[in-house]
Amino acid sequence: MFCDLHMHSTASDGTDPPESLPQLARAAGLAAIALTDHDTSAGIAACRAACEEEGLAFIAGIELSASPKDVPGKREDGKTGTLHILGYGIDPDADSLLVIEKQLLEAREQRNPQIVANLHELGVKLDYNEVVAKAEAAGAKMVGRPHIAQALVERGYVRTIHEAFSKYIGEGAAAYARKDRLSAENAIAAIHTAGGLAVLAHPVQLRRASAKDLEATIVHLKRFGLDGMEVHHSDHGRADVKQYQQLAEKLNLIPTGGSDYHGQRKNIPLNNCRVPYAVFQKLKQCIDG
Ligand code: AMP
Ligand code: FE
Ligand code: FE
Ligand code: ZN
Repeated sequence: MFCDLHMHSTASDGTDPPESLPQLARAAGLAAIALTDHDTSAGIAACRAACEEEGLAFIAGIELSASPKDVPGKREDGKTGTLHILGYGIDPDADSLLVIEKQLLEAREQRNPQIVANLHELGVKLDYNEVVAKAEAAGAKMVGRPHIAQALVERGYVRTIHEAFSKYIGEGAAAYARKDRLSAENAIAAIHTAGGLAVLAHPVQLRRASAKDLEATIVHLKRFGLDGMEVHHSDHGRADVKQYQQLAEKLNLIPTGGSDYHGQRKNIPLNNCRVPYAVFQKLKQCIDG
């Protein structure tokens, strides 16, 4: 039996509505899932109800984008790194989360037109309304870089989503603009106040220069109350999984895992990481305990 504790719906930048995920998950051989949309808990109620119908176990989740700047640990040369904090077992209606969701949405709404303006300066002419239309057509509740990437592809400025990120809108690329508003400390605190556990998502994306630097970062996050770290993820190779499993044990952090499924937007299927069901059981125990 398997679980998948990291996936996105149309409430953020996935392409499947939250109520459709449980059926797809069951077909993919999963017995338990968590919905972890970027910066929103809007899809939780619909996904939970559909899980009950499908007979799947469900954990309410969220993935908060935090600023990678204020945590220690040397990064790989030229890399900014991404710091995403997963919240598991949250009350989706908790005020602490709704306040942050609002702030992050505002940051997003300022950043997106900034990216389009930066593109304009580079001679890449996109109309922001066009980007919004892409998001709306996908049923998305928020506009993200994947929608900008899609507009760039459809306009013929790049051939692939990947090229859109590497050439224009990925971290450090020519038209990139940051939207960091939230410190890791506040992200973890908001998740705790909402009754959830805080888990570091895809540690590999922190782009730390060495295992020692990664450990320094995670030890620092643990002081803020970090409860777990993602061990299994589609970006993690075999050696990463082994390293993170050992680190989680050493630091007494709950190991979690999931595919980071985004529907049609990424070439990653549900249950991609074949995370053992026991990983779900342990997390669930910690949430309930
Ligand atoms: P945003 O939250 O709007 O900054 O967009 C973040 C989304 O873009 C996440 O779903 C990321 O997985 C996705 N993303 C970031 N970098 C890349 C990349 N190089 N290729 C494809 N998707 C990416
Ligand atoms: Fe995403
Ligand atoms: Fe993430
Ligand atoms: Zn994710």
